Amino acid sequence: MAGEQRVRLNEIDAMEMGIRCPNCKTYTSFGDILATGQCRGVECTTGLELELVISE
Ligand SMILES: [Zn+2]
Repeated sequence: MAGEQRVRLNEIDAMEMGIRCPNCKTYTSFGDILATGQCRGVECTTGLELELVISE
């Protein structure tokens, strides 16, 4: 993907259990992101992925 960007999630995101798409601002839940890999927005083709960083 050409325009890949990373966003660190914070406690507010955890409380809302989802994020707003940076392109269309549609709210997409973490469950939907994990299930579909993209934004729920109609006509929005933005891909969304969740990645867990484990440090020792
Ligand atoms: Zn979107």
